[in-house]
Amino acid sequence: MMKKVILVTGGSRGIGKAVCKAFAEKENVIIINYSKSDEEAEKAAHEISLSGALAETEKADVSNFSEVKKMVDSVVKRHGRIDLLVNNAGIARDGFVMLMSEKDWRDVIETNLTGVFNCSKAVTGHMMAERSGVIINISSLSGITGLAGQVNYSAAKGGVIAFTKALAKELSPFGIRVNAVAPGMIETDMVDSLNEKTRDYFLENIPLKRFGRPEEVAGAVRFLASPEAGYITGETISITGGL
Ligand code: NAP
Repeated sequence: MMKKVILVTGGSRGIGKAVCKAFAEKENVIIINYSKSDEEAEKAAHEISLSGALAETEKADVSNFSEVKKMVDSVVKRHGRIDLLVNNAGIARDGFVMLMSEKDWRDVIETNLTGVFNCSKAVTGHMMAERSGVIINISSLSGITGLAGQVNYSAAKGGVIAFTKALAKELSPFGIRVNAVAPGMIETDMVDSLNEKTRDYFLENIPLKRFGRPEEVAGAVRFLASPEAGYITGETISITGGL
């Protein structure tokens, strides 16, 4: 197995951490990006390094291009290239549009959509030079169906799907594939913060009658990154328990 250099934004918790673990093999270098919690990131790096993979943390706010560029350039300087970028970092600031502050609109768009642009832009030159690479974006069911109380999040995640399709077309000539996954309700801190009424509503309406596990999203990411998915680009896989 050839060593892979893998950068996962928001890799310190939830889905991002499960994605890091899914690639935690002896040959691989896993870069765990995060923006705030040093402790969580160090804990994740320790857990991942137990598998024999080299795990490193990189603190950078994905919404800030100069921080992202510095992070990507430093990873490439240390490890020579980036084979896989998983654009996972995301936040939710829910509220009905009439009551939503401009700040909540901007924060969600800047983290969830501009963050994907920033990280993809920063890695693209390096991947083009290698004439290979994979980018996987974590969108959401919200970005496909739209969800009341989440116009900011739905707009950002819908944008991520369109971004994925367009970038796939741009980068195909360079042997770089770009895909997305759209999870439904997955058991992480993000979903833990929902009130009981909302949780019950979803549990009742999800055909598989349970929330998903972060590992179930990570499995789809691993597939999309693999040679078995070598002819798939510009696509979005829904992981929703049928919702
Ligand atoms: P989570 O548990 O809240 O973890 C979010 C991660 O992103 C953390 O590592 C966090 O670290 C990092 N992060 C947040 N803002 C960042 C920033 N500006 N720059 C860099 N890192 C940042 O979230 P999750 O539930 O695992 O969600 C992961 C992704 O899946 C998100 O894009 C989310 O929208 C999407 N998603 C989740 C669900 C779900 O049901 N959970 C469903 C659909 C889609 P710090 O706090 O230290 O910055």
